[in-house]
Amino acid sequence: MASVSNTSQASVKGEVQPSGAWLTPARVVLAAVLLLCALQLFFRVSDARAHGEIEGAAALALIEQQPATAVPPSGPLPIGLQASLATVFTPRNGVLSLALCQGPQCRMAYSRAGAAPCESGLAWPALCVAVPSRVNIGDTLKVGYDLQPYLWSALLDLGVTLVLGAGVLLAWRGKQAAPQAAGSSSGSGNGKPGSPAAPLAAGAERDPLTGLLNRVAFEAAVKRHNETGAATASGEADGCLMYFDLDRFKAINDTHGHIAGDLVLKAVAGRLRYTLGNGALIGRLGGDEFAALLTDASTQATIQQMGRVLIEQVSKPIQMGGLTDSVGLSIGAFMLKRGELAVGDILHRADLAMYEAKRGGRGRMMFFEEAMDAASRSRAQIQIDLSKAIENREMFMVYQPQVDAFDSIRGVESLVRWRHPKRGLVSPDEFISIAEQTGLIVPLGKMIIDLVCADLVALRAQRLALPYVSVNLSLRQLADPAFVDEVQEALKRHGLSPTDLEFEITESTAMVGQAAKETATLKRLSEMGFRLAIDDFGTGYSSLGRLLDLKVDKLKIDRVFVAAITKPNFDPALLELMISLAKRMGIKSVAEGVENVDQVVWLRQAGCQMMQGDLYSRPMNHSQLISWLRLQEGDNDFDEGVWSPTMTMEESGV
Ligand code: C2E
Ligand code: CA
Ligand code: CA
Repeated sequence: MASVSNTSQASVKGEVQPSGAWLTPARVVLAAVLLLCALQLFFRVSDARAHGEIEGAAALALIEQQPATAVPPSGPLPIGLQASLATVFTPRNGVLSLALCQGPQCRMAYSRAGAAPCESGLAWPALCVAVPSRVNIGDTLKVGYDLQPYLWSALLDLGVTLVLGAGVLLAWRGKQAAPQAAGSSSGSGNGKPGSPAAPLAAGAERDPLTGLLNRVAFEAAVKRHNETGAATASGEADGCLMYFDLDRFKAINDTHGHIAGDLVLKAVAGRLRYTLGNGALIGRLGGDEFAALLTDASTQATIQQMGRVLIEQVSKPIQMGGLTDSVGLSIGAFMLKRGELAVGDILHRADLAMYEAKRGGRGRMMFFEEAMDAASRSRAQIQIDLSKAIENREMFMVYQPQVDAFDSIRGVESLVRWRHPKRGLVSPDEFISIAEQTGLIVPLGKMIIDLVCADLVALRAQRLALPYVSVNLSLRQLADPAFVDEVQEALKRHGLSPTDLEFEITESTAMVGQAAKETATLKRLSEMGFRLAIDDFGTGYSSLGRLLDLKVDKLKIDRVFVAAITKPNFDPALLELMISLAKRMGIKSVAEGVENVDQVVWLRQAGCQMMQGDLYSRPMNHSQLISWLRLQEGDNDFDEGVWSPTMTMEESGV
């Protein structure tokens, strides 16, 4: 995996002489192996030659011991002599042929079946060795000596040398990679200086806060991994890219400040390093985003298990000076096959999976699936269409009644809908989060307030009473410095007052830091006479002091708690606590998502003051609301169509 040789690191810094630049450890080992091979070959051939000479001398001696009549000066050698040579020089001595030569004239003395007569040098598979006679000066015996056993032996030695060389190289690389994989250093030793995959200077590649690789270095290292080595033959994944994002990190930063936030990031980096071990390459991509490349645990089951441990480790409490707090971890994972995709696509896929993990409820891990890509494209399309939709005012509002203990309507919650020219009706769940991410929620929110005011005025013009309309607000709108002025301006334009509107903010929005501009906006709204409701209560985390400080009027109990009432194993403790908490703080409680009478009975008996849900009415468009209100009018007892503001049971005398 990623490792940096001193040479290549230094070369980036420009400290290494050009002459030393090519002297990489791999090349040194290769040169040593080649040299050993050449020496092996040389010694083996010399060996063969020496043995050939010995055998040749023995053969010559045998010939010269024969009586003169047995070796005629010319013509073929007698069969008897050839036969006795053949009995002595069996194939086992390696002699393939023997030829007795006088000058250029040679006579075959012995030849193993199939062996060619030997002239000089190499006559494969024989090495030709000429042995001069000491008795008859000028005579030589040319021996064809079998080279094959020597070459096989040389080849065997060569294999052993190569294996040993590769072992030395791998051990050296492993030693280099180990400390860096954990983030103490980075980059890969095989990147050529100046090439895109070349490692950066050590200081420039590390994130100064956590010591992990920074984004550029991490991406470069993933690229190197992706481009080097062959993909597995089976086509299975040979690595996993994990993308991490912390849950609740913003809340830590906002509540405890940036120094505490930095301590959290350091602690998380340490836990990632500890849990993933030396086999992983870890980087901090920015903010509270981290990533890791795992190359030695390639099955999905192993990664799944690893993910569980990571979430558990990172979620443990973190000490920040005198404080203790915790964050969660969402993980996206992509099983990669080397060389199949570009690095950008690998990261994008892991990021998409992480996004889905966040959407799925945080604190979990998701593996990339093709459908996520389609969903992301659809989100991208929504993003493109959204600004046009705001310009063309393609949105309209629907309203859902909120009733009190007597089932009398007290107000309505406004919910936005988008009439998309091609896709039809689009739910806010599909586009509000995109509008929040892109900042389009600011112009969209402005339009919503305008639509709500217009609808309320039109309703009252028909002498239908509606004390207030509740409007959902996003955090981003509260951060907009022009928000309060724009709301005031809209009210003035429509001839309404702050008591006509109520703002719903989610629990996490209400809990942003004390000094934040969002808090200042909320306080200003409250002082101006707008009522505030905490939405989805019970799903986030709350500080009672903060709720009191903000002068909240209502707690809207999230519908998951209401739905639980009629489910088996219902535990009433949490719901009872929320309702009594609201009561003690003098705040009204509103149960959301009420769908059946059993829920109403339980909620009333527990002291919940207001209900909202499909049991009373599903969200209605403006004309449906007018008809619905007319129907209700007979049942309600309002003076001149002017309703009292939302009342508690106590206030209404029950
Ligand atoms: P929310 O503010 O919690 O709105 C209540 C959601 O619960 C609405 O979904 C509503 O139709 C649904 N609901 C009401 N009663 C029942 C019930 O008895 N059973 C079930 N299963 N659901 C019920 P909707 O309209 O799709 O809105 C979803 C979310 O979109 C809202 O959740 C809110 O967070 C956001 N949203 C909607 N309109 C606006 C808006 O104008 N501005 C902003 N910023 N966000 C909005
Ligand atoms: Ca709401
Ligand atoms: Ca809600």
